[in-house]
Amino acid sequence: MEEVRVRFPPSPTGYLHIGSARTALYNWLFARKHGGKLVLRIEDTDTERSTEVSEKAIIDGLEWLGIDWDEGPYRQSDHLDEHKGSSGRLVADGKAYLCFCTKEELDERRKAAEAKGEMFRYDGTCRSVSIEEREKRLMAGDPFVVRFKVPDGGGSVVFDDVVLGRIEVSHEEIEDFVIVRSNGLPLYILSNAVDDHRDRITHVIRGQDHVTNTPKQVLLYEALGWPLPRFAHMSLTLDPKKAKISKRRHGEVVAVEWYREHGFLPWGFANFIALLGWSGGDDREVYLSREELVQVFTLEGLTRANAVFNYRKGDPKFITDPKAIHINGEHIKNMPLGELVPHARAALEKAGMWDDAWAGAKAGWFEKTVDLLRQRYNLLTDFATLGRPYFSDHFEMEDKAVKKNLRKDAALEQYLPMLADELAAIEPFDLEGTEASVRGLAERLGVKAGLLINAARAAVTGQTVGPGLFDILVILGREKCVVRLRNAVGFI
Ligand code: GLU
Repeated sequence: MEEVRVRFPPSPTGYLHIGSARTALYNWLFARKHGGKLVLRIEDTDTERSTEVSEKAIIDGLEWLGIDWDEGPYRQSDHLDEHKGSSGRLVADGKAYLCFCTKEELDERRKAAEAKGEMFRYDGTCRSVSIEEREKRLMAGDPFVVRFKVPDGGGSVVFDDVVLGRIEVSHEEIEDFVIVRSNGLPLYILSNAVDDHRDRITHVIRGQDHVTNTPKQVLLYEALGWPLPRFAHMSLTLDPKKAKISKRRHGEVVAVEWYREHGFLPWGFANFIALLGWSGGDDREVYLSREELVQVFTLEGLTRANAVFNYRKGDPKFITDPKAIHINGEHIKNMPLGELVPHARAALEKAGMWDDAWAGAKAGWFEKTVDLLRQRYNLLTDFATLGRPYFSDHFEMEDKAVKKNLRKDAALEQYLPMLADELAAIEPFDLEGTEASVRGLAERLGVKAGLLINAARAAVTGQTVGPGLFDILVILGREKCVVRLRNAVGFI
């Protein structure tokens, strides 16, 4: 069987956004599934809009997501001669021609067509330019573009799209399109096809925004005598109001970089974007490992309907799709602990809260704490925000914790120091010991254990929710618990 060869050919004109990351991911999944090759090609021929910064941002984004490629990055601009050569071949074979119509002439004809309520398509004026006239005009230095000569005679372009099915466009609907600009530079439509042929691409998996280019590219392949790749045009990613997602409209939240900054795991985020336009045929949403998704991924699973990215206005933390947060949380909770620990460390380092001892003498403690906390967290940043009381002595008491739990009963002013004294004395300071101590004290005082448990949690973490109290006490250790229980009196 023929080797699967796919490509990701971004134009380096901006950051890596969700839509292009999804394209890259599907190509990667397909290549990995079939033991094929993924080619990374930087389509940098639009020199005015291409930047190195953007190229770097795209590559950084791919690397962060763990999307690796087997060939490249190639540069489209390195193959300009070949693109021009193909255009020359088409002209020599009479399958393309030089067009000397000026912009003014074309504008005039367009206006005339519009006045008649017709859509303007290039009318083929220069098809009939004789060789002598062409040479004369070339000698005179008249500017020209190269147009592809769409076959006439009532035929049509037909191809089978993996997602959209059979697509047929009659030749009449396609104008003699430009393949080389008047400045001598080939257009995307030509360069991209030439590169795909040279890179021996077997499957072109790209967004539906390109589906109108495909019939033209099929014509080019046919005219150049090249075999056609399979095409799979993926649905688009829209916002809830059906607008295409874009930075202009939605801001940074459509950039992969935003997710990296806001506590997403690379694979947790990739798992989310995989579901924007693909389904395994069941309700499954979480694929904890890359291998699991590679195994079930098929192009047939690409959905025809456009995907919705549930962008929401409001608190920057929550503007992204809740599903993205939920899936990330599932990864945090269920991934191998050893893989999560370095991410938790990075989050704390970024927040300036990291202590080197947690990678040395206290590594065991750090792992246990991460394991305990992750059951409630959805984002890596939660380790530094919600997790602050566990990793630092400087944390805020939440209002709710003070009002609801510390001020629940004025007598807590006495009870909490009593609990501190108990905990200072018990031996060993472990789960059973701390539990017996809290429950014993409640019994002796004739109060519900819940009163002490909730107040103690508020006292030692400043929070109303969290892991079980005895787990918290043991993780924090005797010393911190005793001090915090005593200090909490100041809030009552
Ligand atoms: N450079 C094009 C883009 O970024 C590639 C389109 C394609 O996949 O053919 O949109």
